Formats: sequence, structure tokens, C-alpha cells
Amino acid sequence: MLIDTHCHLDFPDFEAERDVIVARAMAAGVGQMITISTRVKKFDKILRIAETYDNVFCSVGTHPHNADEELDVDVDDLVRLSAHPKVVAIGEAGLDYFYDNAPREAQMIGLRRHIEAARETGLPLVIHSRSADDDMAAVLTEETGKGAFPFLLHCFSSGPDLARIGVELGGYISFSGILTFPKSEELREIAKTVPHARMIVETDAPYLAPKPFRGKRNEPAYVAHTAQVLAETIGVTTEEIAAITTENAFRIFSRMPRL
Ligand SMILES: [Zn+2]
Ligand SMILES: [Zn+2]
Repeated sequence: MLIDTHCHLDFPDFEAERDVIVARAMAAGVGQMITISTRVKKFDKILRIAETYDNVFCSVGTHPHNADEELDVDVDDLVRLSAHPKVVAIGEAGLDYFYDNAPREAQMIGLRRHIEAARETGLPLVIHSRSADDDMAAVLTEETGKGAFPFLLHCFSSGPDLARIGVELGGYISFSGILTFPKSEELREIAKTVPHARMIVETDAPYLAPKPFRGKRNEPAYVAHTAQVLAETIGVTTEEIAAITTENAFRIFSRMPRL
């Protein structure tokens, strides 16, 4: 069994056929999935989806793209909303200097609030980091120094230093379909350096479909393709990569029950 630790089932791409998407994931061996919040103001919809399917769990948080729209969401709001048993993570929050859709100051304020919520609740923080390696490494080092909190670097596409620092600080590294792309040689080299006990897999669906579906709409069933490439990259079998990543997912998403 595999777990898709990061998808966006609330996106309009899935609106008309969510039942089919979830069923197809299960048929492909993806037993559980986590649909990730990008706007606290739309959290109701996320929660409705998580409540509809036994094997779908969710997070609560504000994507860095929307950071300036949700500066009124404070730590207490995140903590309060995360009390629901279907909520297994805080985020996704972080820094995206590639798109810079929100001012960097707002992204940083949001990230620090989400860190505080993760520390307070013990739920893992799902971190989105793109083209922001130095600032992310600095803030994670500073904040873990103030008090540990569980976290993972989702859809990892950063450089080797951030991977190393993330692992040193106790974090997990999540690999998406990017790992399967021909040009992702550096990322596959990084994967070889990540301890087996710290790697998980995700789709980030509807984005970033892995080979051989690249360019098409992604969906949780396809996480098997990323897991297969990860297995080949680090030299383990298909069965072993499923066992490794699933055990790790249950360890980091500690509130998620084994169904
Ligand atoms: Zn993201
Ligand atoms: Zn995402």
C-alpha cells in the first residue's frame, strides 16, 4: 500500500468526478491520501471532502501564494481548526520566490505562524519551498532552535543543502512526480542522500503528473509511478519502497489512523 501525502482534491479539476478519482487511487493501491489546504477561508470545503471519504485526511493552512490574503488568520485560528480528527497536518505554508505571488514579508509572517501552530499542536507542518533555499534553511534553523516541531519539505525541488539541513533538523523529504522527469538528475542524486527513514511520496495532484503522464492532469493513483522511480533511484524493490514510505507517512502524520 502507498499513501499520497499531498494532493488537492478540492480543486475544480476534480469537482465532477471526485468519487472516481478516490476509487481509482484505491484500485491502484493508494490506500490513504491527504488533501492539502491552500486557503483557511476555504477550509470548510476541504473538511467536507475529508469527511466524505474514510481514507481521505486533510490539513489546514495558507499557501504562500495566498499569504497576503490571510494575514488575519492567526495561530489560534490554525490551532482551533486543526482540532478536528480528520486534520493530520498544518499547511501548506512556506516561501515561493519563484512566482512571488504574495509579498515575501507576508509569506514569512504566514510561515512563522504555521510553525508556531505545528509546535503547539504537534501536527507536522507541510512546507512549500521554491527558489527560497537560503531563507528556508535560515528560518527552519532559527525556529527549531526555539523549540522542535515536526515538518516535511513537500514536492522537494530545492538544492542538496536544504535537503541536508532539513534532515539534520529532523524533517522529512517528500518526492513528487518531478523525481521522474528526465532532467531531474540532481534531484535523484539528492534522493540517494536522504535517509530511508525520512522519505515520503506525494502527487501534488492535479499538478506535476509523473512520467508517463507528464503534462496531463495528475491524480493520487499516479503516486505509484513516483514511488517506482524512487525505488530504482535508491536501489530497493517496489515492495520495499511501499513499506518504507508508508511507515514514514504514518510516523510523521502521527494522527492519521491506519485503516
Ligand atoms: Zn506546494
Ligand atoms: Zn500543494
